[in-house]
Amino acid sequence: MVALLTVVTIFAKNTGRAVRCIRWTAVRQCSLATCAYKLRHEQMHPLWQTPVEAPGGNRQSPINIHLRDSIFDPTLQPLSIRYDARTCRQIWNNGYSFLVEYDDSTNKSRICGGPLVDHYRLSQFHFHWGENNLWGSEHTVDSKVYPAELHLVHWNAAKYTKFEEAIMENNGLAVLAVFLKVGKRHEGLQKLVDALPAVRHKDSVVEFTNFDPTCMLPTCPDYWTYEGSLTTPPLTESVSWIIKKRPIEVSHDQLAVFRSLLFTSADEQEQKSMVNNFRPQQPLMNRTVRSSFSPFLGKITSSEVESVPLGRRSKQ
Ligand SMILES: [Zn+2]
Repeated sequence: MVALLTVVTIFAKNTGRAVRCIRWTAVRQCSLATCAYKLRHEQMHPLWQTPVEAPGGNRQSPINIHLRDSIFDPTLQPLSIRYDARTCRQIWNNGYSFLVEYDDSTNKSRICGGPLVDHYRLSQFHFHWGENNLWGSEHTVDSKVYPAELHLVHWNAAKYTKFEEAIMENNGLAVLAVFLKVGKRHEGLQKLVDALPAVRHKDSVVEFTNFDPTCMLPTCPDYWTYEGSLTTPPLTESVSWIIKKRPIEVSHDQLAVFRSLLFTSADEQEQKSMVNNFRPQQPLMNRTVRSSFSPFLGKITSSEVESVPLGRRSKQ
């Protein structure tokens, strides 16, 4: 039996002011899988509770990756990733997630190879997560969802002069995504977790230096790639997505610190926990998801994609 109280804060467009309402969901019986699917969608962030205008609209993100429909592309190169911890600058709670921001005035932290023709500079990384361990990731694999997802955001420094320019353009961004699952404490992540209480409220910024995000990348080189969009406004269709096949492990306690952050600023009377900051999934449309690995050479098992099945979604 599940009883649920949802406190929804709706942000008036461009004003930053919030209107608060309370919604009750009926007490009912459910199986874990179907209930998790329904609950996840009921808990959607206010940003996604009304339609958001998307430019173009035929290559939006995130998506569900159907293993059966993804195409092995033997021409895909290995990723070349080089990050310099000295380019790490600060953490910013932007009211939707926390961003770890990097100095992107040089090519010291960059990604190339894989599906990318050019080199792309690291601008920031952030996460999306749920209010519990049953959901939180934006992408899913055969409808299996992870409790959180890391996005490392890079921009094309070969074609464009700054992030703000690249974000609007084709081949402007490359986002490297890594799923998080609950397991062992992640030692590399702990330095960041320890810094998070200092950015609990929206708009807070704290200096954060000497952090190499390489520690958060799984060693397995396998990935999927597809052409998509940003998953937050302006939702521009400028992103080459690279999604690592293997998740990394973090502890429940580490994710609990993510969930202790707030969507709200210190001067707001009603405080709201920063959870469920993921966008609903979008239709695949006329796109192909390519994989750097052959499913026949190393079949993905359900334990590798280990998470909670959410039941059937609409076909994408
Ligand atoms: Zn993201």
